[in-house]
Amino acid sequence: MENCIFCKIINGDIPANKVYEDDYTLAFLDIRPSNHGHTLVLPKDHFENIYTLPDETLARLMLTVKKVSLAVKDSMDADGINISMNNEEAAGQIIFHAHIHVIPRKSND
Ligand code: AMP
Ligand code: ZN
Repeated sequence: MENCIFCKIINGDIPANKVYEDDYTLAFLDIRPSNHGHTLVLPKDHFENIYTLPDETLARLMLTVKKVSLAVKDSMDADGINISMNNEEAAGQIIFHAHIHVIPRKSND
């Protein structure tokens, strides 16, 4: 998809701090993290949001979200993890390539 910044990261046209990659999904650090270790997980195919994600793609995405959550929890020594997804502008979506936020939390943050 032209002009999609996340597609450009997937294609290697712009850099990102990748933390996980397989044939279907990619995870990299958020450029403006809510917390240290804030990671984004996305499908390599371009879909705008949850409504248009095929079930199979969504299932693969969530398997990666689980893997990344465990890795982030371990590496950040997190006490908890927030998992969230913004869908449409009214919900705060600013990048229109579906993605899931994995945000490590500390007890007193
Ligand atoms: P949202 O669409 O609201 O879920 O937010 C998109 C997220 O992407 C924000 O948290 C941004 O900080 C993050 N973001 C935007 N551009 C980049 C980039 N080039 N590399 C990493 N994260 C980015
Ligand atoms: Zn895209």
